[in-house]
Amino acid sequence: MALLFQIAIAIVLGVLLGGLVPVAAENVAFLGDVFLRALLMLVVPLVMTSMIVGVGNLGDAGQMGRLGRRTAIYYVVTTAIAVFLGLVLVNVIQPGVAATPEAQLELRGGARLGTVTYAIAGDTLTLPEGTLTRDYDDRYGIELLDRGLKGTIAKDEERDPNRFEITEWRDRDGNPVTLDGTAPQQGQGILVDLAIAGRMRDKSGSAWETIQQVITGLVPRNIFDSMANNDVLPLIVLSITFGAILLKLGAPAQPLMRSFNVLNDAILALVHLVMKLAPVGIGALVAGRLAEAGGFAGFLPELLRMGKFAGTTILGLAIHGLIILPGILVLFTGRSPLAYGTNFLPALMTAFSTSSSSATLPVSLECTIEKNHISPKVADFVLPLGATVNMDGTALYEAVSAIFIAQVYGVELTFVQMVIVFLTATIAAIGAAGIPEAGLVTMAIVLRAVGLPLEGISLLLLVDWFLDRCRTTVNIWGDAVGAAIVENLEQQDEQKRDANTTEPPPELA
Ligand code: ASP
Repeated sequence: MALLFQIAIAIVLGVLLGGLVPVAAENVAFLGDVFLRALLMLVVPLVMTSMIVGVGNLGDAGQMGRLGRRTAIYYVVTTAIAVFLGLVLVNVIQPGVAATPEAQLELRGGARLGTVTYAIAGDTLTLPEGTLTRDYDDRYGIELLDRGLKGTIAKDEERDPNRFEITEWRDRDGNPVTLDGTAPQQGQGILVDLAIAGRMRDKSGSAWETIQQVITGLVPRNIFDSMANNDVLPLIVLSITFGAILLKLGAPAQPLMRSFNVLNDAILALVHLVMKLAPVGIGALVAGRLAEAGGFAGFLPELLRMGKFAGTTILGLAIHGLIILPGILVLFTGRSPLAYGTNFLPALMTAFSTSSSSATLPVSLECTIEKNHISPKVADFVLPLGATVNMDGTALYEAVSAIFIAQVYGVELTFVQMVIVFLTATIAAIGAAGIPEAGLVTMAIVLRAVGLPLEGISLLLLVDWFLDRCRTTVNIWGDAVGAAIVENLEQQDEQKRDANTTEPPPELA
C-alpha cells in the first residue's frame, strides 16, 4: 500500500510539474529514463527465464497445449470484444463529424486561408506571419486555390517559422509540376490540410504482409540480435521450445531446471529492487512527457480540439477496463476485481507512465505472482505472451481511429468495410510491439485495407502519446485478467484430476 500511495502522489506531482513548469520538468525527466532503462534491462532475462521455468515445471506436454489453447482463446475473444465496443462507440458518438464544412475542415486540422497572400521563391513558400500556428508532425498538405495545385510543404523552423520548404507540387490530375522559375511568384488563397506524417511514409504494409511479418518474426535468426533489440516475440518462442525440451528430457535436465529456477528468483528479486525507484521514476516520466508536449498550455488546447475523439477512445477504454474485463473476471473466477485490481495497480501505473507493455512486464509479473497469488506456472506463460500479442486497448483504439479518420474525410464505410476494419484492427493490435506508439504505426494496415487516407494518422499525432498511455494500461490489465482466468481453469482441472485419483476403485467402494 505504501508503494501505491507513493506512486499516486508522484503521478500528481509529475502532472503538476510537467503541466505548470515544463522547464523544470525537463530537468528531472532523466530520472524517468533511469527507471525505464532499469525495467527494460530486465525484460529479456525475465522473459526467457520465466518462460523456460514456466513451461519446464509443467506436468506434461499436454498441459502446455491446453494452457496455450486457453490463453489464445481468451486473447482473441477479449480483443474482439474491445474492437466491437470501439466500433459501436465511434459510430454512435461520431467524433469525426462536424456541423458545417468549415468546421469539418478545421476538425482535420485544415483551414481555408482565403485572403492570405503567399509567395513562392524557388523551393520556398512564404506565408504571412502567424498564418500556420498548428503543427502535424513536420509536413502540411497544401492547395493553392487560385491555381488548383496541390502540394506538400515541410516546416523549416530553423530559418523562419513562416517559411516552408516545398517538397512536391501536383496538378489536379496528380501530375508532378515544377513551379520553380516559370510560375508566377505570388498568389491568393490557400487550403491547408493534412500531409502523410513523416514517420508513416513507407510504413504502409497490408494486413497480409503484417501476418507474414508476425509469423516470420516468431523465429529468431540470431538470438543475440533479438536480445539486443529487446525483440521479445522470437525469444518467447525459443524459451517455450527450450522449456518443453527440458520437460521432455526429465530427470537428466533437472539440474539445469533448478539453475533456471534460481536465476528466475534472482531476477524477480532485482525487479523488487527496481520497484523502489518506481515513485520517482513514474513521476519523472509523466512530468517529462507532459513538458515535452508544452505543458498544460501546449497540450490542453490540443486535447480539447480532439476532445470528442479522445473522449470516445477514453470512454471505450474505461468501459472495457472497468466493466467488461472485471465482469469477465468475476464471471470466470469469482475473484473481487477491486482486490485483484488494487494489487495490480503498481503495474497499471507503470504502464501509464512508460506506455510500454514490454517495459511493464517485470512489474506485472511481480504483482500477479506475489500479490495476486497466481501460480508462476500460469503467469510466466500468459503475461509475457500477452505483453506482445494481447492488446485490447490498442485494438479498440485502432478501430475508433480508423472510423474517426473516415468520418473526418467524409468517407462512408459499407458494412463489409466495417467488418474489414474489425478484422484488420485485431491484426494490427496483435502485430503492434509492446513499445510506445507502436499501435499508431500498425494503424496503416487498417487504413490501407479499406482505402482510407494515411494522412489521417497525422491528425492523431499530437494526442497519441497521451492515449497511448491509457491504452497500454488497459492492454496489461487484459493480460492480468487472462492470467486469473487461465489459472482458474487449470485449478478446476487439477481438482477434477485429484477427485478422480482419490476416488476408491469401484470394487472397494
Ligand atoms: N504502447 C502500447 C503497448 O506497449 C502499444 C500501442 O498501442 O502503441 O502496449
